[in-house]
Amino acid sequence: MRRALIGLSIVAVAVPVVGLMGAEMLVASAAMGSAEAAMVPICADLGYQVDPLGLPPAVPTGGRVSGFGPDEDEQVSVAQAIVAAGRAAGVPERGLVVAVATALQESGLRNLDHGDRDSLGVFQQRPSQGWGTPTDLQDVTIAARAFFGGSESPHHDPATGRTEPRGLLDVDGWEQMSITAAAQSVQRSGFPDAYADHEDRAQVIVSGILGTPGSVDPTGLGSYRAEGTDATTLAADGVDVEAFCSSAFERRASIAMSTITSMGSLGAWGGHQNGRIPHDELTALTWAPSHRLRPDAAAALEALNVEYRAVFGRNLTITDSYRTYAQQVALKAAKPRLAATPGTSQHGWAVAVDLGGGVQSFGTPQHAWMVTNGPHHGWHPPAWAQASGSKPEPWHFEFGN
Ligand SMILES: [Zn+2]
Repeated sequence: MRRALIGLSIVAVAVPVVGLMGAEMLVASAAMGSAEAAMVPICADLGYQVDPLGLPPAVPTGGRVSGFGPDEDEQVSVAQAIVAAGRAAGVPERGLVVAVATALQESGLRNLDHGDRDSLGVFQQRPSQGWGTPTDLQDVTIAARAFFGGSESPHHDPATGRTEPRGLLDVDGWEQMSITAAAQSVQRSGFPDAYADHEDRAQVIVSGILGTPGSVDPTGLGSYRAEGTDATTLAADGVDVEAFCSSAFERRASIAMSTITSMGSLGAWGGHQNGRIPHDELTALTWAPSHRLRPDAAAALEALNVEYRAVFGRNLTITDSYRTYAQQVALKAAKPRLAATPGTSQHGWAVAVDLGGGVQSFGTPQHAWMVTNGPHHGWHPPAWAQASGSKPEPWHFEFGN
């Protein structure tokens, strides 16, 4: 519903926005949705709660294969196996893109050992629906051969010439179908629209693996970051920015502004020493009570979590929060390259968290949402932790200024 609203309302402003962004930006981003993406940080600054699920996901950059982030080696291996299986079965490039887009939607290109009901593996195929044994479905090559179908499918019967369940090659006219229709004809998913969201990234990935120039810019300009346009410039050019934002996004709860004005600062507080803060001066998070933070940081994260849950349907995943001095010493011993010098970490001041649930990877909707919306509650990625920083840590966020 929200998605349809964005699609409709962008029509009204798409022309002036594109005009301002310039022809080179149009050529560079190529994909639809770049104008929407440009509006996201602008609306966020105006106090709207932006919803990246209504936009095409960003194309990650910085990894060894285009279309992937630097910490996605598992996903690269999975994509390479899918492409190899498709090539062996004679599948043309378009079919490889359908398969990778499907895998991005179903598993994030991970070989999952779990899923909805008995779903398993990269494509979340179900043994009870005849897709194969659990062991086979956890083999990316076998799972991919089943997805592609045809004579290379493990379910092909040479006696009858039939393949059941049918794969992509067994669907008449799949080459002329949209990504969504082609994927849906194989997967029969309850959420078919979602496949198309991954088309741009899937094309970048397949082109990168095949070594062909992609039809989509691989620099990730379709991401949610600002693209050189601001609200003042747009307004001067006659764009009703407020009208666009209010039609596309809901206004952020007013709690956010009061949290920001009462926001504390990073570093020492309360006369305490780093990592030696009394237990009862910290506040436990309601949804993750083993994690404690300075009270203002905890209150701000509670408010941020309400918004996050409204968008993603689940709480923020907290993997680390306050760290005692002893824990910092232990962590430094275990991870000498990654961990801060004991006594210097913002974790020791109870104003830093490490997040999972998708936030831990650059380029995910969850990470992009945190970067855009966290600062409205005083939570931000420090410069050193950003993709361009000295020690990129997508999972690390700090409270205060
Ligand atoms: Zn951290």
